[in-house]
Amino acid sequence: MTDPLDLDEFRRNGHALIDWIAEYLGGLEDRPVIEPVAPGEVRAKLPAKPPMTGEPFSAMLADLDDVVVPGLTHWQHPHWFSFFPAMSSPPAILGELAAAGLGVQGMLWSTSPAATEIESHVLDWLVDLMGVPQSWKTTGPGGGVLQMSASDSTHTALVVAREVCRQRTGAPAESMVAYTSSQAHSSVEKGGNVAGYGHVRLLEVDDHFAVAPATLRDAIADDLAVGLTPAFVCAAVGTTGTTAVDPVRAIGEIAREHHLWLHIDAAYAGSAMICEEFRDHQDGLELADSYTFNAHKWLATNFDCSIFWVADRRPLIDTLSIVPPYLRNAASDAGEVIDYRDWHVPLGRRFRALKLWWVLRSFGVEGLQAMIRRHIAAAQRLDAWLRTDDRFEVIAPTPFGLVSFLHVDGDEATDALVARLNDAGFAINGSVANGRHFIRVSIGSTWTEDRHVDALRSAIDRLG
Ligand SMILES: *Cc1c(COP(=O)(O)O)cnc(C)c1O
Repeated sequence: MTDPLDLDEFRRNGHALIDWIAEYLGGLEDRPVIEPVAPGEVRAKLPAKPPMTGEPFSAMLADLDDVVVPGLTHWQHPHWFSFFPAMSSPPAILGELAAAGLGVQGMLWSTSPAATEIESHVLDWLVDLMGVPQSWKTTGPGGGVLQMSASDSTHTALVVAREVCRQRTGAPAESMVAYTSSQAHSSVEKGGNVAGYGHVRLLEVDDHFAVAPATLRDAIADDLAVGLTPAFVCAAVGTTGTTAVDPVRAIGEIAREHHLWLHIDAAYAGSAMICEEFRDHQDGLELADSYTFNAHKWLATNFDCSIFWVADRRPLIDTLSIVPPYLRNAASDAGEVIDYRDWHVPLGRRFRALKLWWVLRSFGVEGLQAMIRRHIAAAQRLDAWLRTDDRFEVIAPTPFGLVSFLHVDGDEATDALVARLNDAGFAINGSVANGRHFIRVSIGSTWTEDRHVDALRSAIDRLG
């Protein structure tokens, strides 16, 4: 019989699991990045009923090999060039484990002071590290909080903006308008719907897939003319499709003029801002009301770890704070502490800051900067090579780690190349921009080295 609460067994099983993870990560290169698996195949391996008595941990480890791994798409594979990276790293994995081991809930400062204070402190570190406005520190009027996802951050921004607009204008949400680009992530439109905006406008983009300020200006004028209430605009620093960068400063100036809340979605590209040379892409941040980026995409930190900053925390807290008697306590009543439950929708919260703190300490700032620079340099080398080959057209600039290109023979040739690259053992996805099919090569997986990108380049050359 096994005893799931026996701490000596836990110790042994834990060591075995860490060994297993190290084997898994170290062996990924020898596996297909996308396991061939048919719908229902994984489930068919599972027993119809749960066991009546406890099983040994060894049985679960064996099923990781037999049931789980053959049914995965390996996001940590060095040949992962699909979507965006969802980085994980040994220090982040250990941080996750430590957080689970501590098992605390940090919804209030008083329910685990260290969880709140480390989170505030690490996000204040990031303010300096990324060169975003000093006022966003928790020691200033703003502050940062970890959310599960950039979608949550953006949805929260939309809700706060709605309340700010309501207080200023008295307008009902149904008459409010949220603006973003047609290239924006679907979370902006979804959040507009969730928050009850009457209208979400997806603005047309220019040749570089960015919103032109005049387009926003015209849309606001049209809406004002028919009695609607412009309330919110989201500018993307790095769209999901092609990593296009909206002009933050120009959009911010229009937002100021019309009292719109300016939210910045830098979910993917935000991590690059730890390197000073990429910060021009977000010039004008002092005009922003909120900002989100995912350390869980490109900053070596396991999902979930999305940073959400606000320039002024008062409207956020005013919108989300409801204090039932069972959550009252002296520290909160005295207003001396941050209670992160008032900074997002859920009450309970994981100790997410631990893994981010460990990542920053393990890599060091320079280690993380070197990683980002290596990815971007690899992407720019691939971009430059594609531009020398007249079979291919690079359809968007490559400011970060994503290369967007197509086959000049048309959509069918482009789709066929995606299929051949996937068959050749690379995870790549296609997309569509301005009605044309294109290929996204996203470089930034933790274990991807230059040789893996070179292998991809040879495959493109051979199969293109
Ligand atoms: C990935 C992405 C998102 C969504 O991030 P989640 O954390 O999965 O919600 C939003 N915006 C952009 C630009 C993205 O690339």
